[in-house]
Amino acid sequence: MPGFEIFGEEEKKEVQDVLDTGVLFRYGFDQARKGNWKAKTFEKELAELIGAGYCHLCSSGTAALYTALFSCGIGAGDEVIVPPFTFVATIEAVLNIGAIPVFCEIDKTLCLDPEAVEEAITPRTKAVLPVHMCGAMAHIDKLKYLCDKRGLILIEDACQALGATFKGKYLGTFGQTGCFSFDPVKTITCGEGGAIVTDLHELYKTADSYADHGHDHVGNDRGLEGHAIIGSNFRISELNAAVGLAQLRKLEYILKTQRKNKSAIKKAMEKSANITFRKVPDEEGDSATFLSFFMPDEKSARETAASLTKAGVDSCFYWYDNNWHYIRKWNHIRNLKSASKLSVSMLKELPDYANLSLPQSDGIMSRVISMQIKLSWTEKAINERIEKILSVLNG
Ligand SMILES: *Cc1c(COP(=O)(O)O)cnc(C)c1O
Repeated sequence: MPGFEIFGEEEKKEVQDVLDTGVLFRYGFDQARKGNWKAKTFEKELAELIGAGYCHLCSSGTAALYTALFSCGIGAGDEVIVPPFTFVATIEAVLNIGAIPVFCEIDKTLCLDPEAVEEAITPRTKAVLPVHMCGAMAHIDKLKYLCDKRGLILIEDACQALGATFKGKYLGTFGQTGCFSFDPVKTITCGEGGAIVTDLHELYKTADSYADHGHDHVGNDRGLEGHAIIGSNFRISELNAAVGLAQLRKLEYILKTQRKNKSAIKKAMEKSANITFRKVPDEEGDSATFLSFFMPDEKSARETAASLTKAGVDSCFYWYDNNWHYIRKWNHIRNLKSASKLSVSMLKELPDYANLSLPQSDGIMSRVISMQIKLSWTEKAINERIEKILSVLNG
């Protein structure tokens, strides 16, 4: 997820445009901004690139998820089906909107298992929120089919998967809405930022308004705008949007480079008898920010992850022991019922996460290792890396 590896003159120029006018705000100041509309331009180019009807930028991916949930009408008491392998922000957004995260098993895609999702549906289920983890896709066609069949809202957390596609269609455009993040470690970054995309005009209008205190953005005088809803401030600044715009224009290069680097390493590893690769429903559409593979059991996975790091293969992740991404180590979520400050009525409704059992997900997560793919690697660096990896895998 290395957009920051390639900051250059392009980012500086976009930021300089903004500094030269002094207008850091994304709305208004039409004269003073001298034609610079960085947030608006970023929205337009992102929507066009991925084939979405509308895009609205937010201050973060978390803010985008929150705004998406609100804009879909999800709130108190609604159940939202989520995976236990994600970044905790997905779960925070659901809880903070007052809805109930219902954890459901993942499969070898490292994303929600469509069959398990179907089993988890109750009369209170309002939405399914798959997370396209580590740059590649869930079984998004099956999840979409299921949501349509059961009348559920599909919201895609594509924060880690900008530019990835399934059979030519961009992730984030399958559901009613999709969310992206441009935080410091994502595929493209603007420091802090996020985006919602949708084809639904009403949903877009609600998001656009919600993220700016409910302003309806009708007319040219902010003081006279209407307010159909109570909103919040999840606005992006022009400075952040300027960086993001330059980065977005590099996305094609980023994807091409990641795919090339991933493919070289994967090809070399295919000869190792001990490993199997993550299931990617459409390999060609993988944004290739990571290469993930399974070891035969937990013990060998933990040992191999440690040996890889020791051999100098940097940026290898054993998520099962990581307390950012998998529920096993999320004590604050697991202990919500006993130690949280959520409203009393909400606490009564929440499942007992402390005793949650997800044996299929544990089985998968305890065996998987993910290796980050970087942009800055030279061919020599890749070959050296491959040598080190093979020396570990082939013992
Ligand atoms: C990064 C990320 C988020 C949150 O994005 P921020 O911009 O950091 O708020 C949400 N979900 C997933 C899967 C992420 O990786």
